[in-house]
Amino acid sequence: MKDAGLFIDGVRIALAGREIVSLTRHVAPGAVLTVMGPSGAGKSTLLAFIGGFLDPVFSASGRFFIDGQDISALPAEERHMGILFQDPLLFPHMSVGGNLLFALPAAIRGRTARKRQVEEALQGVDLEGMEARDPATLSGGQKARVALARVLAAHPRALLLDEPFSKLDAALRQQMRELVFAKARERGLPVLLVTHDEADAAAAGGDIVTIGGTE
Ligand code: ADP
Ligand code: ADP
Repeated sequence: MKDAGLFIDGVRIALAGREIVSLTRHVAPGAVLTVMGPSGAGKSTLLAFIGGFLDPVFSASGRFFIDGQDISALPAEERHMGILFQDPLLFPHMSVGGNLLFALPAAIRGRTARKRQVEEALQGVDLEGMEARDPATLSGGQKARVALARVLAAHPRALLLDEPFSKLDAALRQQMRELVFAKARERGLPVLLVTHDEADAAAAGGDIVTIGGTE
């Protein structure tokens, strides 16, 4: 299906009149587009533009489509992008279950249905039964998995990942990569991955685009 997935159509981003990003790419459902490039190249800025939270110091044009729908003009909360950063950014004043409940779409109604979705989301990242835990008591790897479960519980239409593995040690990093890419394939989510790490790009297995190079 031609329109399935994420289509980045003629995106151009400039800072103080200088173009830093120019990109047209299609990311199929379950596939990963890896964005590499030196620090300051505009990788995070590209994610922010697609996510709908671009700082107004940038001028940007171009459009994004999800499954053929133009989402470029929608407010961030209506784009339904699942975003992960280097830091898991769990809400510290909420339990693990509270973090997930908060992220569930409002359309999922009823205490029982919502509780069940949280249970399933935690099962999906091998953290079943951890609802009551305080995020502060979790290991780094567990926090990363809660952050992933929270993003998936929100029923995103695509994943935008900004160095999501870079705080993890090598073993956890590999586990987490496999988990994220497996979930994306399972759910047919297109993924945009920003990373410095060649091994991340190799594990992603998709196209690689380098921005801010010498061209
Ligand atoms: P190319 O001609 O090199 O394939 P295109 O810019 O035509 O480059 O398209 C790149 C990819 O994006 C192709 O797989 C194409 O099918 C897909 N594509 C093109 N337009 C759209 C669209 N509006 N929505 C979703 N996918 C699209
Ligand atoms: P990357 O993620 O590739 O390291 P960024 O997207 O964070 O790069 O930044 C791209 C460029 O925009 C850099 O030159 C950075 O200094 C600049 N920049 C980022 N955020 C802002 C901002 N809020 N105001 C002004 N310049 C910014």
